[in-house]
Amino acid sequence: MDLELVSEVLAPEPAFRTRQVWEWAVRGTRSYAEMTNLSLALREQLEERVPFSTLELVHEAKSVDGTVKALFHTSEGHPVEAVLMRFRDGRRSVCLSSQSGCPLTCTFCATGQMQFRRNLSAWEILDQALHFRRLGPVSHAVFMGMGEPMLNFDAVVAAARRLPDLGVTHRRTTISTVGWLPGLRRFVDEVDEPVRLALSLHAPTDALRSEIMPVNDRYPLDEVVAECLRYHELRRRKVFVEYVMLAGVNDSLEHARGLVDLLDPKVFKVNMIPYNPTGMFDSSSRETMAAFKDALHRAGFSPTLRLTRGRDIAAACGQLAATEAA
Ligand code: SAH
Repeated sequence: MDLELVSEVLAPEPAFRTRQVWEWAVRGTRSYAEMTNLSLALREQLEERVPFSTLELVHEAKSVDGTVKALFHTSEGHPVEAVLMRFRDGRRSVCLSSQSGCPLTCTFCATGQMQFRRNLSAWEILDQALHFRRLGPVSHAVFMGMGEPMLNFDAVVAAARRLPDLGVTHRRTTISTVGWLPGLRRFVDEVDEPVRLALSLHAPTDALRSEIMPVNDRYPLDEVVAECLRYHELRRRKVFVEYVMLAGVNDSLEHARGLVDLLDPKVFKVNMIPYNPTGMFDSSSRETMAAFKDALHRAGFSPTLRLTRGRDIAAACGQLAATEAA
């Protein structure tokens, strides 16, 4: 819901009217008609002039594990996907997209293979979360859907700042980046809120990282890691490292030792991600992942192996490519 448009329409009214509309929206209301503390005339005006959502839901798929993936279209018809993950302990986490497609071309990621359309507005990002809020309460948010959040810094941060209204605190909000330095620097300098930072690392050396993530040529490892250290120094919070396990590519014990040399376990928390098939690579075997995890563990890290969710509906990490049939 474009709240700026709402406040334009409600301009002749007292300012608190816009707030009332937003309060209904963040509680999971499905239409203006339900906003009963607004007069019928106002509700009708809103109905006519402000689309209830900036995104149109085109398709929704449900996984056997309870994960829900939604495909939306922007007003011009650009595809955007978002995912709701429901966990047994009650956590309900929304995975949000910051762009339609992605201009970066990480070789293992399905989103990187699709056409990049454009940055999403803060409202388009929030409307993904509001959609899932209408299915029930949400507790966590990760900017790990389509796109590179640090390429769309202003909208991403504006959206993150409003997430607490929906029940997602800053401490339960994570922004993930490949290490796009201009945005990452602004994040470190400008975002005082305790929003968490995740770095998609995936390789311990520049040579390998550049091979699988071309963005590394522009922003090499030492500069990206240095910026993460600055975040830790200023905010005193650990940086999550995402490391997707690609068979025979980045999963050997030597790579694990490389990570140990590169990262300080007091600053970085490594999260290993089983590779979700998107056609280009194979996933590391269970044994290889266990050995890798062990090596990190012995060096003082407490690595976790991420649970794969929603693979059967192509909703898992790296699988968001907006194929209409999914
Ligand atoms: N562009 C940002 C936000 C996307 S996060 C970033 O890269 O951090 C999506 C995460 O899933 C990233 O860590 C990405 O590297 C990872 N990923 C991409 N393709 C994957 C795949 N096929 N299997 C598992 N993880 C994947």
